[in-house]
Parts: sequence; structure tokens; C-alpha cells
Amino acid sequence: MENSQKDKNLCPKCGSVLADVVTTKSGKQFQRCSTGTWNPDTRSVEGCDFIKWITPEPVQLDEKCPKCGSPLLEMVTRSGKKMKKCSTGKWNPETRTTDGCDYVEWAKAVVEELDETCPKCESKLVMMTTSTGKRLKKCSTNTWDREKKMAVGCDYVEWQKN
Ligand SMILES: [Zn+2]
Ligand SMILES: [Zn+2]
Ligand SMILES: [Zn+2]
Repeated sequence: MENSQKDKNLCPKCGSVLADVVTTKSGKQFQRCSTGTWNPDTRSVEGCDFIKWITPEPVQLDEKCPKCGSPLLEMVTRSGKKMKKCSTGKWNPETRTTDGCDYVEWAKAVVEELDETCPKCESKLVMMTTSTGKRLKKCSTNTWDREKKMAVGCDYVEWQKN
């Protein structure tokens, strides 16, 4: 009576149907086994603890891998970060290494100079689009010190809505 499409939505652990897709605050999506419920008091799952994380399908890009010339794929990780990777590269869970071409390019934050001055120090402001697509205006003197692992310079930041 069930069609084959529906069979794929069964829990591999206990065979029950999976519950509806849930989207977390950070934009991740998952389906929990319908027999499992999160108990906030005990901070554990009661019943079947199967969770299926939904990862967006990789998109083939019109760009070639600089290492081997194969098409690149654009993927979004579970944490919402965008990356490009070579379509011939496959993660091998047994050896915990990448088989094939290991080219990966993480989306970088894009910074545009603005014709506005910082209200705090009167340096130029820049508009920054992070790798997860958030936009913020910040002071151009504000930079990330990799050694100290902290931001240095003027701390003026104005997050943009949407
Ligand atoms: Zn289950
Ligand atoms: Zn490649
Ligand atoms: Zn400033």
C-alpha cells in the first residue's frame, strides 16, 4: 500500500516512519524518528534516537577545478558554510581521507569599501558579506589577528538585517 518513495522515509534503526523535517535556528534541517522525542528535562532522547540530517544537494558549477580540470561542485556544509570542491573528490569514511582530487575552496568573506565614515573613529567603513551570507558594516581598521585569535582595531560593527 505504501509507494517506494515513502519507504525511503523509514527509520533504518527501527522501521518506524520519520517525523516531519525540522529546521533549526541556524538553518540546519533534520528528520527525527517519529518514535523518538526530545525530553528537555533529562536532556536526552526517549525512544528511538535516529536522526537524519538533511544536507542540501551539491550543485555542479560552470567552473573547472584548478588542479585537475574536472567540474567543481558547490556544497553547503551542515553549519551553513559554502564551499566549492572538485567533483572527483570523494570522502572515504574507512580511510578517513579524500579519494580522487582533494581540491576544496571555502567561500571567503567578501569585503567592499564604502563611502561612509566610522562614527567611532572616522576611518572608512567596509561592507562585509560573510561566508554564511550575513552582511555587516564594520570599521576598516578592524582586522582579525590570527596569532592572538582576536579582533584588533576599532570595534564598530553594524549588522545588516536580511
Ligand atoms: Zn527509529
Ligand atoms: Zn580536481
Ligand atoms: Zn572605527
